[in-house]
Amino acid sequence: MSNVPKMFGSLVFNDTVMQERLPKATYKALKETRERGKALEPKVADVVANTMKEWALEKGCTHFTHWFQPMTGITAEKHDSFITPIAGGKVLMEFSGKELIKGEPDASSFPSGGLRATFEARGYTAWDPTSDAFIKGNSLCIPTAFCSYGGEALDKKTPLLRSMDAISKQALRVLKLFGNMEAKRVITTVGPEQEYFLIDKAMYEKRKDLVYTGRTLFGAKPPKGQEMEDHYFGVIKPRVAAFMADLNEELWKLGILAKTEHNEVAPSQHELAPLFTTSNVATDHNQLIMEMMKKVATRHGLTCLLHEKPFDGINGSGKHNNWSMSTDSGENLLEPGDSPSQNAQFLLFLAAVIKAVDEHQDLLRISVASAGNDHRLGANEAPPAIISMFLGDELTGILKSIEDGTSYEQKDKVFMEIGSDILPRFPKDTTDRNRTSPFAFTGNKFEFRSVGSTASLACPNMMLNTIVADELEQFADELEKAPDFKAALNKIVKDTIRDHKRIIFNGNNYAPEWVTEAEKRGLLNLRSTVDAMPYYLKKENIDLLKKHGVLTKTEACARYDIELENYYKQINIEALTMLDMIKKDILPAAASYEKDLAETASQKKAMGIGTGFEEDLLKKLSGFSEKLYDDAEKLEADVENTPEEKSTYDIAAYYRNTVFAQMEATRKPADSIEALVGSKYWPYPTYGELLFGVM
Ligand code: ADP
Ligand code: MG
Repeated sequence: MSNVPKMFGSLVFNDTVMQERLPKATYKALKETRERGKALEPKVADVVANTMKEWALEKGCTHFTHWFQPMTGITAEKHDSFITPIAGGKVLMEFSGKELIKGEPDASSFPSGGLRATFEARGYTAWDPTSDAFIKGNSLCIPTAFCSYGGEALDKKTPLLRSMDAISKQALRVLKLFGNMEAKRVITTVGPEQEYFLIDKAMYEKRKDLVYTGRTLFGAKPPKGQEMEDHYFGVIKPRVAAFMADLNEELWKLGILAKTEHNEVAPSQHELAPLFTTSNVATDHNQLIMEMMKKVATRHGLTCLLHEKPFDGINGSGKHNNWSMSTDSGENLLEPGDSPSQNAQFLLFLAAVIKAVDEHQDLLRISVASAGNDHRLGANEAPPAIISMFLGDELTGILKSIEDGTSYEQKDKVFMEIGSDILPRFPKDTTDRNRTSPFAFTGNKFEFRSVGSTASLACPNMMLNTIVADELEQFADELEKAPDFKAALNKIVKDTIRDHKRIIFNGNNYAPEWVTEAEKRGLLNLRSTVDAMPYYLKKENIDLLKKHGVLTKTEACARYDIELENYYKQINIEALTMLDMIKKDILPAAASYEKDLAETASQKKAMGIGTGFEEDLLKKLSGFSEKLYDDAEKLEADVENTPEEKSTYDIAAYYRNTVFAQMEATRKPADSIEALVGSKYWPYPTYGELLFGVM
């Protein structure tokens, strides 16, 4: 292993490199832009661009690209070379400030939800100087936002950046009320834990479902699944260990603080967690992590599956979004402090989160909705589609005593009233016992566990930041005009607990009783993407996003449309893949085994050996084959009957209620056939081989 400190960030144009290479004045100007969001002067941009280019050329780059995150959910890049022709048939390697700051990719094929049609066909990319440029292959990558010429966001990143400004603005108002005059910015921090599966690449390539859709559309239950739970934190297999070591190196070079990795509960499932950083950088890094996982896996003869539910009956994958707020000097606002005043402040920020999650369950649910994630959230898997919060017994007890006006006693600690006591610290082991909650307090941060493993972190964090910003604004409005700050503060915290405690649930979110209980409490249970998306268009939600400058009405409507379109397109691909596999492989496999069985049965009969098991098996098998054939015919008709003239919502609802439902029915006889046919007839690697095939 090479020298890690030396390797770390070696492919990143980070603060150290800037300080070393930029003229002092340029460095200072850029730093102001990075920290305060000040505009960058064109002259400064030219110097930065030139320095960046020199640095990139030394590292072997020939190209540069504006790297952005369109609404497809993955990253996009268009590579331009540094080459500029000069006299005599020669070239110079050039890169101007203009090229650094603004790009104009031909963007007509990215989803825009109709936004570009009404304005201009083209969009442009703009440098986000708060996210460092980096090198990938032979290209200098410039992280950018992507907008239409009318200024509408066409990407995931822009609204996230806007939401970070919104929450900073409101949180600073609150901090001022507590006497903090130094903080210049409040940043939201994110540390995502990324779950993924690793399977053998040769086996992957034999499965059209995995290749086209990222998940298995068929697969009989293997003799062994995850019931022994012997994989969780188990010894990492050599091939996987080699992959992880290689992945770490790649990530470290990109300045990504990949920190922990371990096996998950399901066989072949693993997790990688980087150290937390600011939301926008964490979002960029997570995209790079996913990309690198796929790339590095290939080098090891493996394939990395990022889908939320690659295997039926086996745990799916998520991306736990650990989230908090902190001042620019590093004070974590969701950590109880060392003084009564800090604790009062903590309780106010906590109240804001509680109120936000309760009032905006719908927006949080929307932010994690996708066809893939429906398999986790809408099915019998934790976390459920119902959004609730886990605070742990101790913190819940303290909140209860605040609400009741009683004192809270535990062990040697007594908590009397807000602003007069030191709160206990909540160590992770007492707060994190509940692994089933969608939104759990873990001592000094919240863990939003509903995010899907393929999802971009931008949308969940944009929503989280916005809804908390809104509550902080309401609190600040009230507190700024209050004659008695302490009394007003007490009232806000008390009222919030009283009015929003229904969102707190410390029990097992997996239990069927919770569904009934949540309904009694009036909590939303939006089981699918189609159920969730219409809430995007609720007037209150559009107003809220608009008020904080995060999304305009047009942008919100476009996003609603794009998400629904992504949803039904995904299911359409799955349905077509299913039909292809049935017709080309599964029915022929069944027929071929049936033929052999029939031949043997009639030979046995002719020889007077009697009818053997062959006849019985043949009967069963042809029953399932007939059923599969009929179901596939129906599925094909359903896909063909897609109501094309209808709204995006209607098409998505049709896919959910008709096509997807028929896919589930169609899978059953196919899985029964798989369980019956001889191994040599079955065309695909089985669940057992896929899940236990990596040594
Ligand atoms: P788990 O037990 O859930 O695996 P870990 O202790 O490994 O949790 O931490 C999970 C993630 O939480 C890590 O990525 C870590 O960096 C992140 N994290 C820790 N503190 C914060 C914070 N203040 N803000 C955001 N993320 C944080
Ligand atoms: Mg976790």
